[in-house]
This record gives sequence, structure tokens and C-alpha cells, in this order.
Amino acid sequence: MEKEKSLTIIGGGITGLAAAYIAAKQNVKVTVVESSKNFGGLLNTFEIGGTRLEYFYHHFFTHDKEIHWLIKELGIEDKLIYKSTTMGTFRNGKLYSFNGILDLLKFSPINFIGKIRWGLSSLYLGKIAKWKKYENVTALDWFYKNAGKSATDSLWRPMLDIKFGPYSNKIPLSWMIGRLRQRLNSRKSGDERLGYIEGGLDTLLQALLSKLKEMGVELINESPVTAIQFDSSKKITSIETAKGVMQGNNFLFTIPGTIISKLLPENSPTKKDFASIEYFGAVCVILESSKKLSDTYWINVADPGYDFGGVIEHTNFIGPENYQGKHITYLSRYFDLKDPLFNATDEQIKNKMLPQLSLIFPNFNLKDVEKVYVFRTPFAATVCDLEFSKKVPNCKTEFDGMYVANMAHLYPDERSVNNSIRIAAEACKKMGFAQVVVPEGNSLAGKLGF
Ligand SMILES: Cc1cc2nc3c(=O)[nH]c(=O)nc-3n(C[C@H](O)[C@H](O)[C@H](O)COP(=O)(O)OP(=O)(O)OC[C@H]3O[C@@H](n4cnc5c(N)ncnc54)[C@H](O)[C@@H]3O)c2cc1C
Repeated sequence: MEKEKSLTIIGGGITGLAAAYIAAKQNVKVTVVESSKNFGGLLNTFEIGGTRLEYFYHHFFTHDKEIHWLIKELGIEDKLIYKSTTMGTFRNGKLYSFNGILDLLKFSPINFIGKIRWGLSSLYLGKIAKWKKYENVTALDWFYKNAGKSATDSLWRPMLDIKFGPYSNKIPLSWMIGRLRQRLNSRKSGDERLGYIEGGLDTLLQALLSKLKEMGVELINESPVTAIQFDSSKKITSIETAKGVMQGNNFLFTIPGTIISKLLPENSPTKKDFASIEYFGAVCVILESSKKLSDTYWINVADPGYDFGGVIEHTNFIGPENYQGKHITYLSRYFDLKDPLFNATDEQIKNKMLPQLSLIFPNFNLKDVEKVYVFRTPFAATVCDLEFSKKVPNCKTEFDGMYVANMAHLYPDERSVNNSIRIAAEACKKMGFAQVVVPEGNSLAGKLGF
């Protein structure tokens, strides 16, 4: 059957690929244009111990409906893995387990009253508070006032630091409300089960790419979009890529706003809107070692002076037997793009971070680290500062036929694969490809701008 509608998607990360799938299912002729050699964006992987592993640690949650929908659509449900994980906090030079009420009681950096205030503030934000009310208040101001200094310095601030690095003091409480709702929903009787896929998120990516090819979607890689052409009535007519000019009727941009802004005409209001949304970067240093560091999956480093905010021991979640017995740990850090460490060489980053590990894990011998890999991205997330809802761009732009769905549309929720699928679905609705229903979880993503 001849396809009547066409769509060109710019950016072959999960948002672009999910939108391609949803649109192609509705008999739309879809082309995806990606700048890199590999599709997948932040979901890219490399091989370690014979298995693919994400450059940036990834897991999802039991209540993430959109990703479960896609996994089912792709017929890879048998690859789903759910596991309980453990958390810890490194504070005042000591490692504490942080997995439930008993651990909270034993957590000496906070006094008894502080613990009660921490518990009440978590419950209020996760169960009662409405995000809209708190767009004007930074999370840290609210925590210092309501949860107290010791709970904020020991728990809340490190949690924000690990997510936002130098921007942690700009983040509104609204984001925290989205985040806590998500985490509390993922817990069953105090035990948090996280999701992963056998063979890594690459299994999802490869299944999606083969399905897209099967559906006739044209996948063009190594082809950064470098210019956009408009006609005199402000209709987008074509894009310029490394592989030539491509014409079309509908264009969905899933790339960062900073890049879109550079492609727009000087006098366009949309250009300024996109330019006003800042991004920050992330670095993940991955250790491949013969021994484990600890028994904990996720450790927040809550003491100052460390060059990483999180120690995520992946093989305490997905066992080392999946990686020929190797133990895998991510050291994670979010960066302001002007931070010298972001542009440092891999060697400089390793030399700074690795010796600091011994301070947290004195029994771990750095000689047991066999290989170190460093990955970084300048577009880890948007800086969703106060009243960010006013900055969220409209999916349908001022230019006829030009649509946008990117990380800015995830606010006030967390950026995630699940939420990327949500905004892809919302963008398809907006473009009039509305017949495919993607079930909606309790995510707050995709509520603004569509
Ligand atoms: C450190 C870290 C940890 C994370 N952990 C998790 C997690 O545990 N769970 C979870 O669900 N999510 C996690 N995420 C978030 C998740 O990876 C992202 O939300 C999701 O992958 C974003 O997909 P995207 O398609 O919107 O963007 P991207 O993946 O950034 O894709 C955008 C694509 O556009 C391409 N592009 C850019 N410019 C151009 C151009 N000019 N022309 C053509 N193409 C272009 C890029 O190459 C890229 O492929 C994490 C992210 C990071 C950084």
C-alpha cells in the first residue's frame, strides 16, 4: 500500500527511534537521520566480558509502562530482568547501608529528630505534594527549611549533586517531587526492584532497529543535520545533511535544543527559546576488575572533595557471571561544560578519580582494576531551573511542519528511556499520527509542550 504521510526524524536516540516505530506503525513513511555512526544516542554500548554494556549506567523501574509496552511490542519480554538492589551512602568517612527503616535508624550522621524530618519530608514529597505548587522554590532551600541541615547535607544534597552536579542548587522542588513519586512507586515493602534487559539495553536497541528496517523505515547514519530551509510562509521544506538535502512535509527534531537553536533563522523567537535551555554533561568512568568493591549496587558519595558523586557497582545488580567473571563499576559525575575536568584527557580523569576510591573502599586493591574506560557526553540532561515549565518549548514550533520532542519535554519528571518513549508518543499524537496508543504510566513527562 502506498504510504500517504511522511516524517523525517532528526536524531536516532531512543526518542527518535521510538517515534519512528510509532509513526511507521501507522503507515507513515519514516526516515531517521542520525549524526553518529551508531544509532542509540545515550544508550550506546561497548563490549566488556563478552556482553554489551552501556557507556552510561542504565536501569528502569517496575512501573515504567512505556518501556514495558515497547519491550512487549518487540517480542523481547523473555529478556526482561527484575532484581532487588541495594543502596548506600558514604558520609563522614564511613560507608552506610541505606535500604530501609533499620538502616535509617543506624545512620549516625543525622540525629533522631533529623531522621523523623527526613522521613516526613520524603513522604510528603513522594505522596502528597503537587509539583506545580513548588516551581518557584529550589529543592535545597526547601530541604534546609523542612528536613533540617543534617538530613539535607547527608542525604538530599548528595542526591541532587549526583544528578545535577554544579546545578544542584538551581533545581526546583517540583523535579524532586517527580523523582520521589517514581522511586516510592518502585518500592515494594521497602525493597526496590529495578529492571534491566539480558544483553543490556543494546538488546532493546537492536530489536527496535531490526523492526524499523522490517517496517521499511529508512535509517541514515553519519549524517549530521547542518541547516534547515524554510519557505516564505515559514514552512520547513528541507534539511541539509552530510549526505545531501532531504525534502519532506513533517520533521521531528529529537536533538538537543542548543543544536536546534543554531539551525534556526536569526530573528526567530524559537531560536531564543531553545538557546535559553542549558545542558550539562556527564562522565562515567567504568572499572573492569577481578574483585568487587562492595556488596552495594548504588552508593551516593556524600562527603565533599570527591571527583565522582556515585559509585554504581553494576555487577551487584547484573552478576559478574554475565561478564566472564569481571566486576564492573561506574564512577559517575555530572559536569558544567566549562569544568576543566570535562575536557581533561581520559588519563587525567582516571588519575584523579581512582586514588579517591581507596579512601572509600580501603580493602579494595587498585591493582585488581584490569581496565578502565572513560565515556562522556555534553548533553546528559537539561538544567531544569526555577519555573522551567515556562521554558518547555512547544512540540509544534512556529514553523509549519517542524516539531520538537527532546529532553526539555521530560520536565518535571526524570530523564529516562521510559519517559523518552512517552514524549515520542505525545509528539506522534501532536503530528496527527494518533492511532497507536502507548499506555501511560504515572510519569509526569510529556505533559508540557504537547
Ligand atoms: C549518566 C547517565 C545515566 C542515565 N541513566 C539512566 C537510567 O538509569 N535509566 C534511564 O531510563 N535513563 C537513563 N539515562 C537517560 C537516558 O539515557 C536518556 O533519557 C535517553 O537515552 C535520551 O534519549 P534521546 O533520544 O532523547 O537523546 P539522545 O540519546 O541524546 O539522542 C539524540 C541523538 O541525536 C543525535 N544528534 C545530535 N545532533 C544531531 C544532528 N545535528 N543531526 C542528526 N543527529 C543528531 C545524537 O547523536 C543522538 O544519537 C541516563 C543518562 C545518562 C547521561
